[in-house]
Amino acid sequence: MLGSRWAAPNGGKTPETHILVTHYHWDHIQGIPFFSPLYVENNEFHFYSFRSKFLGRDSLKQVFEAQMALPYFPVDMSAMSASRKFKEVDGGESFTVGENNITTRWLNHPQGCLGFRIETPAGIVAYATDNEPGDAKLDESLRELAAGADIFINDAQFTPEQLETTRKGWGHSSWLEGAKVARQSEAKTLVLFHHDPDSTDRMVDSILRQAREEFDSVYAASEGMVVTLGAPGDRVQAHMPGTRTALRREAQFQAKVCGVTEGGKDFEEETVVRDISLQGALISLKNMPRLQSELQVTMEAPGADGVQSMNLRGYVVRIDAGAEKGHVAVGVVFTD
Ligand SMILES: [Zn+2]
Ligand SMILES: [Zn+2]
Repeated sequence: MLGSRWAAPNGGKTPETHILVTHYHWDHIQGIPFFSPLYVENNEFHFYSFRSKFLGRDSLKQVFEAQMALPYFPVDMSAMSASRKFKEVDGGESFTVGENNITTRWLNHPQGCLGFRIETPAGIVAYATDNEPGDAKLDESLRELAAGADIFINDAQFTPEQLETTRKGWGHSSWLEGAKVARQSEAKTLVLFHHDPDSTDRMVDSILRQAREEFDSVYAASEGMVVTLGAPGDRVQAHMPGTRTALRREAQFQAKVCGVTEGGKDFEEETVVRDISLQGALISLKNMPRLQSELQVTMEAPGADGVQSMNLRGYVVRIDAGAEKGHVAVGVVFTD
């Protein structure tokens, strides 16, 4: 998905791209042969990853070659015409890419995994997948990566109950551990990531609701989500992708919306919802709800037995200037 957007014609030469690879488990590498920008001659990629004791020198390069060996893939590495450079990094190292400083730390995961802290002029991003809490030294490493981060992206695969019982030792974390580390390290926004493949969207939403009881600013990552670091002092903005607003319909529903304003006051407002899907809606409001606060949306919808009232609960993921004067356009993702 990222690759297709990237490959869209823009006329110019693509700048150099730096990709940080955490480890070599399938779920972190299997997209590589399908990443179309690697097949564009003028593109330049720099990959960073560690030397695996199972592979030795040029571990990541070997991973590329093995993945593209016949008969697993129709073409071999020579078809990848973009320039590719591989750099080995070890846990504990720091290096710079342009004006960004990157620090690596080992995390607690079978066969090893690197976490990254990326200090940019616009803010700090910590990326920590996959990791199981419980090793005092590596727990400390994680707090070092996340210290004061504007965005802390953390493994949230298992529920706290699973982590203590059936999934102990599997090398993953939970939303509760993420919230705890975010608090301890004074990270500003937590992004729950590496959801369990068996978790439905509804389960992820429920995990998100629980996490928000423990930490103020939490998002659950979803495919295509874009998180933007603001200028210093600005809040982080998250943009939910089409997958969360799929099946969107042009419609007009009379709706009553209840929520909390940015100033912390309760409000209730009548409006018309025009842009709605099963997962979310874009609602025009005079009140400015607080980002990430909960909204109750009650709509009158025509049903088999006449007009029916529909109650939906969601949370505010985005606020933009409204089309109408004095209104804001509020993006809501429904949770039930
Ligand atoms: Zn893994
Ligand atoms: Zn993984």
